[in-house]
Amino acid sequence: MIEVGILGATGTVGQQFIALLATHPWFKVTWLGASERSAGKAFRDATAWRLQAAAPEDVLARVVEPVTPGNAPKLLFSGLDSSVAGDAEAAFANAGHFVISNSKNYRMDPAVPLVIPEINAEHLKLIDQQQAARGWKGRIVTNPNCSVIALAMALAPLRQFGLKTALVTTMQAISGAGYPGVASWDILGNVVPFISGEEDKFEPETQKILGRFANGGVEGHPVVVSATATRVPVHVGHTVSTSVKLDQKVTTDAIVAAFNGFRGRPQELKLPSAPAQPLVYLTESNRPQPALDVNRDGGMTVSVGRLRPCPVLDYKFVALGHNTIRGAAGAAILNAELMHQEGML
Ligand code: NAP
Repeated sequence: MIEVGILGATGTVGQQFIALLATHPWFKVTWLGASERSAGKAFRDATAWRLQAAAPEDVLARVVEPVTPGNAPKLLFSGLDSSVAGDAEAAFANAGHFVISNSKNYRMDPAVPLVIPEINAEHLKLIDQQQAARGWKGRIVTNPNCSVIALAMALAPLRQFGLKTALVTTMQAISGAGYPGVASWDILGNVVPFISGEEDKFEPETQKILGRFANGGVEGHPVVVSATATRVPVHVGHTVSTSVKLDQKVTTDAIVAAFNGFRGRPQELKLPSAPAQPLVYLTESNRPQPALDVNRDGGMTVSVGRLRPCPVLDYKFVALGHNTIRGAAGAAILNAELMHQEGML
């Protein structure tokens, strides 16, 4: 077993890491890090466990450490708040750790891969440049924003049809705001049409993810993305309503076949967290729904539905992803599995 640590272990994403890694065949959690509020306490005294899956006893008893390099294992998963992730993740990378991060801080760094392994596994080659570019002995690899992951997964199979434009409105779950997140007063019976800093991530992250690795860097895909991000009173699952413009004339059947046929390196390698079918098109007229579809294939499959012509652009559809699994912890674990299998760790 490979020992791993979790930066931000007490948070929403941190707890999801703990739950997913409890039965992982390759990785075992042996180190937990969080803020000074939690450090020095046993995990069970530092925070309340908030997932349905039971927390492993050894993790509940483990003492939380401050997020400073020292005795942590080489491989670290990060669910740190972005206000501290920049300095903390760099400090660990500088000390020789491999940090697989969920935070926004390094996603757009030209020397840092922004990876969805089904789409752009080859972008991991960027890590070879990090020592020269950043001076780190270790490495940082990132996964995208939780809504962007669902969007990019649905857009990736449309590149073959000449993807030009995506007009996006999200309906994002409250768990996406961390814990305690949005006050119940603000969200119950309500829709909040603003998530600070969220909309600005859609175009650059999508372009980088869908881009190609060439001449030692990532050439961004030219897709134009316009996003409106909203917070809705849903527990888990980000829903993304999208209209797309395509260069080619294409039938709905061809698009559905492209969604359902989409596969990547994780499926080829049969990685432990890889869903057999990363995108599933649902034919029912009222799907996907967070309450019914978010946990498909352990929360690692993105569900798509409602494909129909768009009178403004060409087609429109709805995609749904599990924000803390496919959109965060599960995505980071899949990245680490790929790196391990490709001999990069
Ligand atoms: P969260 O529930 O608020 O958890 C934040 C974590 O960061 C906690 O473990 C917290 O430790 C730690 N932390 C906060 N301030 C710190 C400090 N000064 N020093 C050290 N550690 C500190 O947030 P989250 O939802 O898990 O999100 C974590 C990261 O993942 C964020 O960057 C977020 O944008 C990203 N992300 C979240 C989601 C999602 O669906 N929630 C999805 C994708 C990406 P304490 O408990 O000790 O305060």
